[in-house]
Amino acid sequence: MKILVFNAGSSSHKCCLYDLPCQSLPIEPPVPEWSATLDWTHQQGIAELSVKTERGDRLQKNLAADNRSAVIAQMLETLQQGETQVLEQFSEIDVVGHRVVHGGQAYSNSVLICPEVTQTIQQLAEFAPLHNPINLEGIAAIAEILGTVPQVAVFDTAFHAHLSAAAAIYPGPYAWVEQGIRRYGFHGISHQYCAHRTAQILGQDQSSLRLISCHLGNGCSLAAIAGDRCLDTTMGFTPLEGLMMGSRSGSVDPGILLYLLRQPGSSVDSLDHTLNQDSGLKGISGISADMRQILAAVEQGEDRARLAFDLYIHRLRGQIGAMLAALGGLDVLVFTAGVGENSPAVRAAASEPFKFLGLELDPAQNAANLIDQDIATPESTVRVVVVHTQEDWAIAQECWRLIAQP
Ligand code: ADP
Repeated sequence: MKILVFNAGSSSHKCCLYDLPCQSLPIEPPVPEWSATLDWTHQQGIAELSVKTERGDRLQKNLAADNRSAVIAQMLETLQQGETQVLEQFSEIDVVGHRVVHGGQAYSNSVLICPEVTQTIQQLAEFAPLHNPINLEGIAAIAEILGTVPQVAVFDTAFHAHLSAAAAIYPGPYAWVEQGIRRYGFHGISHQYCAHRTAQILGQDQSSLRLISCHLGNGCSLAAIAGDRCLDTTMGFTPLEGLMMGSRSGSVDPGILLYLLRQPGSSVDSLDHTLNQDSGLKGISGISADMRQILAAVEQGEDRARLAFDLYIHRLRGQIGAMLAALGGLDVLVFTAGVGENSPAVRAAASEPFKFLGLELDPAQNAANLIDQDIATPESTVRVVVVHTQEDWAIAQECWRLIAQP
């Protein structure tokens, strides 16, 4: 079964093709037959296309970026033409899976896309104006280029759809609940995948595990997961709530926003920019949103980089504590995404206060940056696992479940 995964973002699109057996899913995540990225961030008016195949073929090309669906069509052409060709024709593709950021309260599972689903995703664009319209553009582009292939929406909010009312509702006026202003949570595809993968790595039954998943990338969030249920998470109505991130503030006193909005010359758009683009590691350090650069600057004795790192860790530890309370105990602490998978310093600092639980990192294992491995000592009462998050693979599995095992 050939499954195309389409992950459309505001500044880049990622796409890959899996070829999976119809009878059962492989246990180990397979390498996609073909994968491509389109990146609009480096050069004005240019989309950088890079393609690679499992056999090792590579293609790099700059495309004129004036029409997004034409650019997507050129990316998909590399599936059936040239050195990166892996298909005779598009009709070999059985299903296309899309990462859709906001499924609101409408979707707690992945769904086959039909006009009604498209309409709901459109309505939910009110809550995710930067993401849902781009996801819809991707769905429309695939329909235009590939015709009537089944398409599946896999939602980043779905895993959090069963948060209890106490975890999901903000203590504002009750009218907010009626307006849909509540905590939705994000990174759900990653958190759900990591919980499942952790159980595989440890050789344990997932239903018996209480786990905190720390997704630490450019965006950062935690999820408290008992078995296959998410009990709490740190992102909320938008992906701005919770942890300090690369360039996002995470939670701040809402009174600050009121104070700033009352300043002469202030605007909602500039505040939006400040909170999303000029805060977090970047805002405090004045150096970068990239944890690698923060750590390098700390080494060189830069005070503001040190402050940025200390703040990041302080908030991370505090929120791990909050997730611990939601679970009432802890079997596994999971680290994933760019920072979580690659920074021994962050993992060590985040874990440090939880030694009182009997959690003990193995320093050598932690330093080795092992992927999909347990890095706690054998004596540790809490396992600590580093998981390489594979959202594309998670989306492909959802498609497989809906199409091969309807
Ligand atoms: P996204 O959230 O956009 O998917 P990633 O999960 O790829 O991002 O994470 C990107 C971040 O990972 C980078 O901004 C960088 O801060 C961090 N990162 C990558 N490699 C390392 C490393 N070796 N040490 C520390 N941080 C790293």
